[in-house]
Amino acid sequence: MEKISIIVPCFNEDKALPLFYEELIKNIKKFPENVDFEILFINDGSKDNTLNVIKELKSKDDRIQYISFSRNFGKEAAIFAGLENASGDYVTLMDADLQDPPSLLLEMYNYVSKENYDAVGTKRVNRKGEPIVRSFFSKIFYRLINKMTAFEMVDGARDFVFMKRNVLDAIISLKEYNRYSKGLFSFVGFNVKWIEYKNIPRVAGKTKWSFWKLTQYALEGITAFSTAPLILSSIIGLIFCVVSFLLIIAIIFKTLILGDPTSGWPSMVCIIFMVSGIQLFSLGIIGQYLSKTYLEVKQRPIYIVKEKSK
Ligand code: UDP
Ligand code: MG
Repeated sequence: MEKISIIVPCFNEDKALPLFYEELIKNIKKFPENVDFEILFINDGSKDNTLNVIKELKSKDDRIQYISFSRNFGKEAAIFAGLENASGDYVTLMDADLQDPPSLLLEMYNYVSKENYDAVGTKRVNRKGEPIVRSFFSKIFYRLINKMTAFEMVDGARDFVFMKRNVLDAIISLKEYNRYSKGLFSFVGFNVKWIEYKNIPRVAGKTKWSFWKLTQYALEGITAFSTAPLILSSIIGLIFCVVSFLLIIAIIFKTLILGDPTSGWPSMVCIIFMVSGIQLFSLGIIGQYLSKTYLEVKQRPIYIVKEKSK
């Protein structure tokens, strides 16, 4: 007997959940007899009826388990709770809004159980239904982060992954507080098969990501996996030192030879503005890393459970 744990983070998903469950069951039926399932819903402090919907589904299907948080801790925390509590030989992460098609599960399972893969990742080939500005910035983000990190972050990669226990164990051994799952998944390595699918709009409810939240998430990804921005501020600082030194020498010579008094306080003001701007910018970069370090050092729990089914 083999067991697959399906982890589903849910935040205000009472409309989508029944549809998700129905679709999931249809696809689970296609699996061979010797495969058992555990469906682990993580209720991430939903304000709507999500928990009751989960309990109702559980009363009809005892493969369902749930963990309910004391408040909203974010999808990353929900993913971590799911991974920590999953009991399967294989684990998969799925959104509750059917943007991660359950029809792919069997194919994913075959790759890891029959072929020599440890995990299967998914990526979107297009970004249909997404605002153009958002697609544009995410392209830039992936370009940047791939320049800064030693391992590859796949553009368009989703959190929808299917993995063996060894990959799961590696991921939960990374106990950091600032979690960026896509990065962690790339970081642990292993033999990953990537499959592609077209972007699908969510079935019900609405996305929890605003542009601002996505920007923060992108910065999170960069600070969690790269120290390149810190080096950048040192380089800019160095360049400015050299340039100003050359300028000083030039001005001294100009004054000595031409007897020309140095004029123009407007240019001086511009320079002061620019240099102090760069200083603040660099301080900001250091601040980013400092604040992440501060949060790590506190060692607060990543999530707090209010109730759970097992
Ligand atoms: N989610 C969560 N906690 C949050 C935000 C989202 O558990 O604070 C869940 C949400 O219920 C869904 C998944 O994470 O199952 C993906 O969220 P969403 O569809 O809003 O993100 P998108 O697909 O737009 O990236
Ligand atoms: Mg979604």
